[in-house]
Amino acid sequence: MVADDRISIHQVTLPPQCTTPQFVAALARHGLRCTSLWREKTREHGVAATAKLVADSGMRLSGYCFAGLVTSPEPGERAKALDDVRAALDEAAALGAPCLVFVAGGVDARDKDVRGARGRALDALGELVPHARAVGVKLALEPLHPMVCANRSVLSTVGLANDWCDALGADDAVGIAVDTYAVWWDPQLLESIARAGRRIISFHVSDWLADTQDLRLDRGMMGDGIIDLPALRHAVEEAGYDGYVEVEIFSQRNWWRREPDEVIATIKQRMRTSV
Ligand code: ZN
Repeated sequence: MVADDRISIHQVTLPPQCTTPQFVAALARHGLRCTSLWREKTREHGVAATAKLVADSGMRLSGYCFAGLVTSPEPGERAKALDDVRAALDEAAALGAPCLVFVAGGVDARDKDVRGARGRALDALGELVPHARAVGVKLALEPLHPMVCANRSVLSTVGLANDWCDALGADDAVGIAVDTYAVWWDPQLLESIARAGRRIISFHVSDWLADTQDLRLDRGMMGDGIIDLPALRHAVEEAGYDGYVEVEIFSQRNWWRREPDEVIATIKQRMRTSV
């Protein structure tokens, strides 16, 4: 059971047609005070306008999502990608977000070198640490499901995120985002969460539907799938995490088609019974 004051609802969970002001107003209607903002939506509304909206509404941010995709082997593309992450860190700082979700990037078809891509992502992180430190926003390394290793993230496990954190030696600027949807299948997950300890700075929940239709856009509501969410929440709390529990549901065929009030009411109820 997760109390209302620990709930954060990620902006991407509400129907895409919801503007940022409509989204913030919907959360406030249900007495919720925390969110994680989606970068695309923030840019659409404007960073300064969104920062003002957040401040005026008294909303807290659990994170800003996302930036990264730094695995290109081509120097010009790589430099551009790093600049984009720095810009996202600046945006997160302006909004008052404590961390920026970092998605590593996939394998490049030009070299088909997954090992090389991992090395390039780690090198890029090393170059980004000073900027993260300077603006006071942590990079939250988010492992994604291995089925999206080719196009989104060569970082697939919490174990590898731990290895990267060890290599970087920058726990003041880099942490780990544990997204249950992405890592529930991992046989080493509980050991890796324990090893991560206080490096866990972000915790995301949704559910994996047994008959999922789309790896990215068919996430389930907590309780509708096969992830033992209470067990994973206990594991991260045992490791020392006491922050917000962030609900992140990309759901093209179901929840994105419903009214925001229905989605939020369902989330509040499921956080009590299924997380
Ligand atoms: Zn996530």
